[in-house]
Amino acid sequence: MTARAYLDWNATAPVHPAAKAAVVAALELVGNPSSIHGEGRAARAMIEGARAEVAALVGVEAENVVFTSGATEAANAIFRAGLSGCCGKDIAGALRPMVGATEHAAVIAAAGPEAAVIPVDAEGIVDRDALRAMLVAGGPALVAIQLANNETGVVPHIRSMAEIVHEVGGALVVDAVQGPCKLFYPLAYELGDADAVFLSAHKFGGPKGVGALCFRDSRTKLAEAFVRGGGQERGQRGGTENLPGIAGMGAAARFAREFETDFITIEPMAQLREEFENRLNQLAGDVVILSKGAPRLANTTCFAIPGLEAAKALIAFDLDGVAVSSGSACSSGKVKRSHALAAMGVPDWVQAGAIRVSIGPTTIWAELQRCLSSLERQLARRSKASAA
Ligand code: PLP
Repeated sequence: MTARAYLDWNATAPVHPAAKAAVVAALELVGNPSSIHGEGRAARAMIEGARAEVAALVGVEAENVVFTSGATEAANAIFRAGLSGCCGKDIAGALRPMVGATEHAAVIAAAGPEAAVIPVDAEGIVDRDALRAMLVAGGPALVAIQLANNETGVVPHIRSMAEIVHEVGGALVVDAVQGPCKLFYPLAYELGDADAVFLSAHKFGGPKGVGALCFRDSRTKLAEAFVRGGGQERGQRGGTENLPGIAGMGAAARFAREFETDFITIEPMAQLREEFENRLNQLAGDVVILSKGAPRLANTTCFAIPGLEAAKALIAFDLDGVAVSSGSACSSGKVKRSHALAAMGVPDWVQAGAIRVSIGPTTIWAELQRCLSSLERQLARRSKASAA
């Protein structure tokens, strides 16, 4: 029996050993990356190495990568500062914000209350016709659509969204946080020609509190520095760089790219997920698996079973040594209803019962079995209670 089963990789992934080694190596460097002496140059070289790794993963030039404190900061930077030099034009300040209805709370908050919300279908995929109609009616926009949803794992085909946005006018910003190590195709391919993309290192084996904002075109920049300071990060994000975090992110990005070029590694994960969902069906014939009919990440199952309330189930799983989450984790540690599931028109009982199991490259069947055994006990208690 494994010590505990960690099945919450969409919340955060365990740190990859290579990322940990890179963090330690960075901590051993004394120099400030902006200093011109040898120590400073060594620190700078480490940052530029990490930048090249992130750029290769996303499929952009290294000079177009800006390190941030995470995805939340990147989203805020884009919507608060605006973009300039995007799509061959200077569009700073000219674009109104638009967001998909199932975007992460960080993106919705960054876009602000004035952002137009693009509806999604029952699987959680942005409605292409609505996107086009909203762009035609309202003019060019700064549109945020996620590469994959953190709750259901649905992958809404960003390539075609980018085509629509560019055809009608505007810029596409993609929250690619849930992409690395979970997609069936390489991240750089899935992103199409999205104008701006952001990542958070801790979702794919890097440390927490570091991320990157990447631009497709080297003319594109934040219209003004989001963090004003000493001109670091091409003048867009001031402050001495988080060298250990950035080094760790670079190592994690290298691992993610190796992982996606080797299909032998994604398949076992997809098979584990498939087997898990088969067993779920056997345990509870009335289980609802969200977005099951749509293209999904290889690692995510979001399900609900009648009579099983997520808030209580999470505690029961935890007591049984299984870490899973409800449809949406919340910063306060409380389980709250998910705006994304509501936008998909999911019935109330499914929203209240949605449990997310998300796995990663090192997940083994024993962990999923432990989750299923806990679930079986919970279902037995449910039957007893309803018989009483
Ligand atoms: N976007 C998605 C899809 C996420 O899953 C998360 C984290 O849960 C974020 C953005 C925010 O990432 P961070 O908290 O690392 O800034």
